Amino acid sequence: MMPIPSLSRRNFIALAAAAAGSSLIPNAAAAPMQDPVVDAIEKNGKAVPHETVPWKVRPFPLKQVRLGDGPCKVAMEADRRYLLSLPPDRLLHTFRINAGLPTSAQPLGGWEAPDCELRGHYAGGHYLSAAALMYASTGDEDLKKNADVVVAELARCQDALKGGYLSAFPIEFFDRLRNRERVWAPFYTIHKIMAGNLDMYVYCGNQQALDTAEKMAGWVAGYTGPLSYDHMQRILGTEFGGMGEVLCNLYAVTGKKHYLEIAKRFDKQVFLDPLAEHRDELKGLHVNTHIPQVIAAARYYELTGDRRHRDISEYFWEEVVSERSYCTGGTSNHESWNTDPGKLSTELSTDTTECCCAYNMMKLTRHLFGWSPDAHLMDYYERTLFNHRLGTINPEDGTMMYYLPLASGYWKTFGKPYDALWCCTGTGSEEYGKLADTIYFHDDDSLYVNLFIDSSLDWPEKGLTVKQGTRFPQEQGTTITIAAKNPTPLRINLRVPYWVEGGKVKINGSELPAFASPSSYLTLNRVWKNGDKIELSLPMGLHIDSMPDNENVQAVMYGPLVLAAQFDAVSKEMTYGDYEPKAGDQYKVPNIVADASNPTGWVEPDAKQSLLFHAVGQSQPMNLVPLNQVIHDRYAVYWNVNKRA
Ligand SMILES: [Zn+2]
Repeated sequence: MMPIPSLSRRNFIALAAAAAGSSLIPNAAAAPMQDPVVDAIEKNGKAVPHETVPWKVRPFPLKQVRLGDGPCKVAMEADRRYLLSLPPDRLLHTFRINAGLPTSAQPLGGWEAPDCELRGHYAGGHYLSAAALMYASTGDEDLKKNADVVVAELARCQDALKGGYLSAFPIEFFDRLRNRERVWAPFYTIHKIMAGNLDMYVYCGNQQALDTAEKMAGWVAGYTGPLSYDHMQRILGTEFGGMGEVLCNLYAVTGKKHYLEIAKRFDKQVFLDPLAEHRDELKGLHVNTHIPQVIAAARYYELTGDRRHRDISEYFWEEVVSERSYCTGGTSNHESWNTDPGKLSTELSTDTTECCCAYNMMKLTRHLFGWSPDAHLMDYYERTLFNHRLGTINPEDGTMMYYLPLASGYWKTFGKPYDALWCCTGTGSEEYGKLADTIYFHDDDSLYVNLFIDSSLDWPEKGLTVKQGTRFPQEQGTTITIAAKNPTPLRINLRVPYWVEGGKVKINGSELPAFASPSSYLTLNRVWKNGDKIELSLPMGLHIDSMPDNENVQAVMYGPLVLAAQFDAVSKEMTYGDYEPKAGDQYKVPNIVADASNPTGWVEPDAKQSLLFHAVGQSQPMNLVPLNQVIHDRYAVYWNVNKRA
């Protein structure tokens, strides 16, 4: 066994996995938000797309959508303050050490500590992606300035290291990888740094960042080129995450075809082949580093038209969402899929649903939606956004969660600001910088309103501004107001979610005689004039989400929201620092008695306060609130229910 440089818990798991004969080292993943709409910025300002299969419907560039007040903006602002608190010199410290350049900054801790094998993943990777996205979402020039400094200094480190290599750890890690000696995840980390630089080019126009990413790709080509196919496949046993995706994206922005060929070297055959044949062989796999491989497949399909890669993506998505996801939209337990499909009731622990997995599944969802704008894709997106992404960032300080525990009686834990910097800190930093990226999609003649989030959309090509005013989910619906320079024909497609109980729509105060079924889009096709107003009413109700393999293990939902019973607050010491709460420290949660004919009857809404509920007829009084509102308290999501005939 190789000596390990730091005995973090993560290294320990890696060691245990190696000892168990698995080449998978549990870990993290993520990547930039690469949208076809922005992926081809040419020097003369003219975009030249390289997609063979362009998205049928596309998001708007982030800078055209602005969040209004509400839970998403609160999360975004917490993230922005956190990103602004990170000084470039601290981020650059280990890169400078590795490049032999002087540095006297205080080292970061956690996964960025100078002896952590993953160092650089956040400081030179996620940080740049997050700053780029946040700049696109807010126009924050101070943050962009900091990120530009990091880009420039990383380029200096790359020059000093020679050959295009850029990392905060020595190049010898890649010898260990080649020799199949134990090493954490060098390509995983390289992916983050390439993606971060590429995002700084795409969203902030930083040309130097693109040069850095291309030089890194040149180094990757040089490393992988001499390896035989079989040797490379063995190397892919060490988690590498989104390498294929960032190389595809590099082709998309440059049009240089050889990046696609390098991307193909990261196709892991034993993972992709069963998916192409629609076989679920996901049991035993590390979740967070495999979802990005499917995002790479999705991107490869878009760029080449290779239908097999679309099949892989669609089958994988359906399988994970329908067979391997909890009521929150999250997936994974102890970072892996441990069971056959549909077996989840025994998979409740302190280590369920790693946050990175939610981030990556949402990202994959956008690709599928771009190909075929089906409402059920956005139903899933909303479920995951409102139950797993909101509520896993601490609004007070922007710290983030790792696992979202779904075993009942535990609490949420958050990483310390400068001594965690986990994979999930990285994907979270990106996530909350791009919360506006999916609210609206469009094609030439249509607007899709996918999510009910207070926001405004600027659509200069149409001479339109669309304002969505809502306090959703406090408010059960939304109001859309059009500002139009001229009367404009447009199909406005409003998502009618799966959970709606009834519903109606009014245009300028008049109710339309028709509505749409749940999980579909309601299309309003007309010539829109300045000041036109759409009022969409979406009544929520209580409903049950049972485990696929045990209908007596249930969660309660209200509209899109997973409800959690709220128990005692935990101490600050219990809140900060660890990946998960201590398994032995579990509050005993009562079993529930419910009528078989009225399974939500034991939950009653508060007479006065919205989104507050009370348990009735149970062994103890309990209050239930949306899981995303629980930050410091013990909670319970899943219940063992005894049915009364
Ligand atoms: Zn993670």
